[in-house]
Amino acid sequence: MKKLLLLMLAVITVQLSAQDLAHYKKIVKELSSAKYQGRGYAEDGANKAGKWIAKEFTKVGADEVVCQPFKLNINTFPGKMEMSIDGKKMVPGVDFTLREFNPSIKGEYNLYYIDTLNYDADKIFADLATPKYKGAMVVCDFMFSYKHMADFKKLQSKECSNVGLIYTWEAPLKFYKAYGEVVREKPIIWVKPDFPQGAKTVKVNMENEFLEGYECFNVIAKVEGKKHDSCYVFTAHYDHLGKLGKKTYYPGAHDNASGTAAIITLAAYYAEHTPEYDMYFIAFSGEDANLRGSEWYAEHPLAPLSEIKYLFNLDMVADNNPNQYCEVSDEGMAGYALFEQINAEKGYFKTLERSELADNSDHYPFAERHVPCIFFMNEHGDAFKYYHTVYDTWKNAIFTNYEPTVNLIKDFIEKQ
Ligand SMILES: [Zn+2]
Repeated sequence: MKKLLLLMLAVITVQLSAQDLAHYKKIVKELSSAKYQGRGYAEDGANKAGKWIAKEFTKVGADEVVCQPFKLNINTFPGKMEMSIDGKKMVPGVDFTLREFNPSIKGEYNLYYIDTLNYDADKIFADLATPKYKGAMVVCDFMFSYKHMADFKKLQSKECSNVGLIYTWEAPLKFYKAYGEVVREKPIIWVKPDFPQGAKTVKVNMENEFLEGYECFNVIAKVEGKKHDSCYVFTAHYDHLGKLGKKTYYPGAHDNASGTAAIITLAAYYAEHTPEYDMYFIAFSGEDANLRGSEWYAEHPLAPLSEIKYLFNLDMVADNNPNQYCEVSDEGMAGYALFEQINAEKGYFKTLERSELADNSDHYPFAERHVPCIFFMNEHGDAFKYYHTVYDTWKNAIFTNYEPTVNLIKDFIEKQ
């Protein structure tokens, strides 16, 4: 009888966790869908996703859900995004991407290829002053440009007559937002290593739209615990890279629908199993735009930062690398020993690979303010190659490490 009861309990537990996983996948699918256009700022993608997340937190039983507005300046690309080389059309996101600070550009230009084998800066600047190459688009290998930073700074500024730069870089091509709070003088276009060598002209029509004082918001859900003098905080950013032209968007399934979905299912769990302490689940906006949302929250917290027992930041968490990357604040190191102990006992991950603290995700503003915190990111699994590309889709998402990650955190809270 006891055996049967244990078996029944085991079945119920498995069913509960299967339900969590199904709910988790549903959220990742929703947030990476075309509805939210890559959760950027053009067409209100991030804000639409934020509204959905707020509803979902309420639906899973959070006691309180608050949207915390803040403003940012951000460059976006919702309009024309055309490029052809000697008449051959290139596909945005696949054959080319832009730097986030690019201005609009429209026209047809001669191409000028930098000779990297016989590099001669004087010759390059002399060539670019000739009628043939005046106002040309310069083509070069991106990594090579690092060897001659001063020359390339000149090529990126109005000091030289070229209209812009095309850099060849590794594929799949990545897109960023971190330096999107300004618009620079000339466009930089990234293309794949197989970009044609010796082509004559490039025709472009690319439109930027700079949003000034654009309002977005963090979504904060609270689940009340038995005690209110301290709290646990779960964070994940829900914004992503948005659009590159009218049709192309960056779905961001792994980055970071995966972490957002994880904190929503954790909120659901704790709403059903009243925790010892209050719990806050914060879905940040503005992360890919330089940690804007988390910086804002850290300056305007809903509960004093000194009351945080531990903060868990989840950014790209469900991939299948058996080794779990993490970063820990100085004040979080005592807790880290407990994480290692639990992981050794339960074998959730082969190892926890702790690295130096960096300003690479939303834990950082809290680490700087002495909050005990850990950042989990499942790096270098099979989904990681799609990081910041148009291929970070629901179809390419991997869910292997969702359960080990949330179980590790749940065990930690139980034992701390
Ligand atoms: Zn991210």
